Amino acid sequence: MAKVLVIAEHDGTTLNSSTAKCVACAAQLEGAEIDVAVLADSATDVAAAAATLDSVQRVLSVENPANATATAAVLAPQIVALAEGYDYVFGPSSTFGKDLMPRVAALLGVNQISDLMSVEGSHTFKRPIYAGNAIVTVEAPAGHPVVATVRIASYQAVGAGNSAPVEAVEVSAELPDHTRVVEVQSGQSDRPDLQTAARVVAGGRAMGSTEGFDLIYQLADKLGAGIGASRAAVDAGYVANDTQVGQTGKIIAPELYFAIGISGAIQHVTGIKDAGTIVAINKDEEAPIFEVADIGMVGDLFKIVPELMDALS
Ligand SMILES: Cc1cc2nc3c(=O)[nH]c(=O)nc-3n(C[C@H](O)[C@H](O)[C@H](O)COP(=O)(O)OP(=O)(O)OC[C@H]3O[C@@H](n4cnc5c(N)ncnc54)[C@H](O)[C@@H]3O)c2cc1C
Repeated sequence: MAKVLVIAEHDGTTLNSSTAKCVACAAQLEGAEIDVAVLADSATDVAAAAATLDSVQRVLSVENPANATATAAVLAPQIVALAEGYDYVFGPSSTFGKDLMPRVAALLGVNQISDLMSVEGSHTFKRPIYAGNAIVTVEAPAGHPVVATVRIASYQAVGAGNSAPVEAVEVSAELPDHTRVVEVQSGQSDRPDLQTAARVVAGGRAMGSTEGFDLIYQLADKLGAGIGASRAAVDAGYVANDTQVGQTGKIIAPELYFAIGISGAIQHVTGIKDAGTIVAINKDEEAPIFEVADIGMVGDLFKIVPELMDALS
């Protein structure tokens, strides 16, 4: 038997699909008994969504006003209190999980394992290293809880045909007040979220300016796609840094990825290794992006992209 606690990622009302992918990873453990913990101010909607996830045995709903805009410092002691009796505590390798899970591991006195991409045994896992250029097999010591982040691009979400019970749980933990959320600012957009979008259109340095990057938005709108960018485009200020794809940006796995005016540096490609179909547009036929692209178009993007949009109209 392997008792697994999966920490739900959510925005207070909607369960992030990263949770269903963590459950898929947990389900690879032999004899897994999977509970999902929802820590929120009001957990009803999110807990109800978590209860539908296949393979989930129970949803633990931890309601506390302190969890409304909680920092990792506030969530971690509650998770540690909940983790009593669990063999594994999993969270997603999203920004949320990367912020939270190391604190959980530290409070439990164990090392975190990052970016699980497959389960090889009860304490043996595979994870990428060197920006995804090598896969290492790691073994966690037995007799200690395994705290890990799950590389969400490596897993398909479990189905949502379950109706697991939701249990309200009181957690007694001392919550720090040294850090608090003053304000949350986010770019308002109706476009799909980069990390969960089925289609992503990304632009690179070749877009040349913020105005040039408009072409990316136009194509994305035609395709109902999320927006991505290379680090060079972000560093040049053409687009916000939360659109960066790659080693130091987001690791994504859309069904369709357009890399437009992006050279295909290894640090970028590591972010799209699990994409379904990669379409590259680049004027340099030797650009490394063509090595990973399924469809390549060689030429000037400022000519090709408008033609593509015309064809889509
Ligand atoms: C530690 C570290 C972490 C990093 N993390 C990331 C990361 O997370 N994500 C990331 O993206 N990068 C990352 N980088 C940076 C990475 O190495 C590259 O510098 C970056 O990805 C390059 O961005 P780019 O492809 O847009 O620009 P460039 O490399 O300058 O490529 C621009 C491309 O556009 C093409 N082009 C130019 N004009 C046109 C045109 N008119 N039509 C068609 N094609 C055209 C060119 O042929 C070229 O291939 C990281 C680097 C380091 C060292």
